[in-house]
This record gives sequence, C-alpha cells and structure tokens, in this order.
Amino acid sequence: DMAELSHTPAAPSASPDTLHRRGLMFILSSPSGAGKTTISNMLLAADPAIKLSVSATTRPMRRGEEDGVHYHFVDDAEFDRLLEEDGFYEWAHVFGHRYGTPKGHIRAALKDGQDFLFDIDWQGTQQLYQKDQQDVVRVFILPPSLGELRRRLTGRGTDSQEIIDARMDRARAEISHWDGYDYVVVNDDVDTCFAKVREILNAERMKRQRQTGLIDFVRDLMG
Ligand code: 5GP
Repeated sequence: DMAELSHTPAAPSASPDTLHRRGLMFILSSPSGAGKTTISNMLLAADPAIKLSVSATTRPMRRGEEDGVHYHFVDDAEFDRLLEEDGFYEWAHVFGHRYGTPKGHIRAALKDGQDFLFDIDWQGTQQLYQKDQQDVVRVFILPPSLGELRRRLTGRGTDSQEIIDARMDRARAEISHWDGYDYVVVNDDVDTCFAKVREILNAERMKRQRQTGLIDFVRDLMG
C-alpha cells in the first residue's frame, strides 16, 4: 500500500544503460578479402552509437567512394600540412599511398561517450594503441583458410593473377601480426562473425573503467 511505498528509497537517478561512459576506439583489422569491410558496414548499420573514423588518404578516389564519407581525399601537400600541424593520431604508408587518422574531434567526442570504428591496418593499430591504451579495443578478423581467401579475392572478378598473388602476399604479411590484437575472430560465416564482433563491442562497453557514471550510480544505489 501507499504507506509501504513511501518507505521505498528513491530510485537511483540513472539506469545502467544511460550511465555516462567513455567512448572506445574499436579497431577492426584483417587482410583484404577476409570480410572486414562487410563486417564494418554491418556494424555501422546496426549500431547507431558507433561512428566510423574517417581517415585522410592521398590515394585516388575509387568508383563508389565519396569524399568525407569513406575517406578525406587529400593531395600530398595537404597531407604534409596536416602532418606539420600534428593533425594525426597515427599515419602509415600503405601500398604506395599515405593514410592517417585525424585527431580532430575524436579526443573530445570520446570523453562525451562517442564510440569510433577504425578500419586500419596493423601499423595504425600499433600506433593508436601506444597513444591511447585505455580506449583502444583491437579486433582481428582471420579468413578460414588461405585457399578460401584466394577464392574470395578471385571472386571479386576483374583482377589479374599477378594482382591476386600480390594481394595474397600482403594478406600473409598482415596475418603475421595477429598476435598484436586483443580479440581474433575467424570469418567462416559472415553473420556468425558479425554476431561475435558485436558481442565484443557490447562487452567492452560494460568495462568498469569505461563506465565513468558508476561512481554516482553506486553512491545513489547505496543511499
Ligand atoms: P584502401 O586503400 O583499400 O581503402 O585501404 C588500404 C589499407 O589502408 C587498408 O588495410 C586499411 O585498413 C588501411 N588504412 C586505411 N586508413 C588508414 C589509416 O588512417 N591509418 C592506417 N595506418 N591505415 C589505414
């Protein structure tokens, strides 16, 4: 009854789902052909709380790409200028072009709880991790076999045997860095792989150290 209800302590002001937490830097790496882009796109579509970190690159735009969405496409002079003003978290040469993660708004947004997805290679992963160990979560996606990887690269259609061989060499090189990651998922089925990647993201969001609102929540809880 009412009398009993009035003795109930006030409900805590926040629920665990709305507690403030720091955002995280969720890195997905894999050799090309292992499904990273597919998994990234699925994650961005399914989870509005994570945003893609858009890198700057000097490589030419490909068909279907959009400036500011897939990359910020810049020329060499602009990339140099960004380097000079210390505008990158990390950057690397990949396949003859330069790629970099702009610092820009990322630092402040992380504090506000925004999560970022990074589609970067092992070099970028190492650099980001060295700069910011507490926010970085490193996930590596492996193909089920090299035969399957070759089949997927061949299945893309137009590339010559030579290009596919070069991609396979790069894939082996990328895979050799698997042990620099926190999580490794084998992509033999894209839906299963995606489900696993989401589990990793959701579990990482609940890490005590990330949930900066817990101190107040528990204080309220304990009365
Ligand atoms: P693509 O030219 O095919 O889009 O990307 C080539 C490679 O560059 C991929 O392995 C991708 O993960 C990597 N990459 C893209 N952006 C960055 C970045 O900002 N930093 C680093 N280190 N690598 C990147």
